[in-house]
Amino acid sequence: MSDTHDPSSQPAPVAQRAAALEAALAERGILPDGFVEDFTRHSEEQWVTRNGAQMVARAWTDDAFRARMLADGKSAAAELGFGMPEHHRHLVVLENTPDIHNLIVCTLCSCTAYTIIGAAPDWYKDLEYRARVVRESRTALREMGLDLPGSTEIRVWDTTADTRYMVLPVQPPATRGWPAEQLAGIVTQASMIGTERLDGAGRAAGA
Ligand code: FE
Repeated sequence: MSDTHDPSSQPAPVAQRAAALEAALAERGILPDGFVEDFTRHSEEQWVTRNGAQMVARAWTDDAFRARMLADGKSAAAELGFGMPEHHRHLVVLENTPDIHNLIVCTLCSCTAYTIIGAAPDWYKDLEYRARVVRESRTALREMGLDLPGSTEIRVWDTTADTRYMVLPVQPPATRGWPAEQLAGIVTQASMIGTERLDGAGRAAGA
């Protein structure tokens, strides 16, 4: 295995590395049968953006739930039947207002409340996003299509292993009175990360 120490050698493609890791774990009896398949099915079918969207829609239509969700997001998620891994000890819900905009990042890697808002999109994992939203949030957001006025305060939240975040977007005024089920349909993952607003704030004129 001398080539593994050759600094000029390239790592194998990620799929190949994942397969090798899975085989090594299985060989040692560390990987229970079907674990990877179960995990994959869970992540695709149950850990979806729709979960967070339903929480947002409920918060928009039920003030008491909104208060509970802002006080303890993890318990509010559980009320609607949405679980989180044990090591996600807190779900902190960040309330946007017309003048305050919250934005989530994981500067170390790619952590999110993935059982609630769905798996992180590729751009969320990019070093470019992770570095620039901290150093120059306003410019980075503008380049992603969200051009917030200078009067809007931007708050950036760095995810940790045990504290996960989701943004509670401002409800678009035109949707007042809609049933929760219909409201859930307009809530995007980006709006719960904070790279998009649903209320029209920061949208370029004519867009
Ligand atoms: Fe991370």
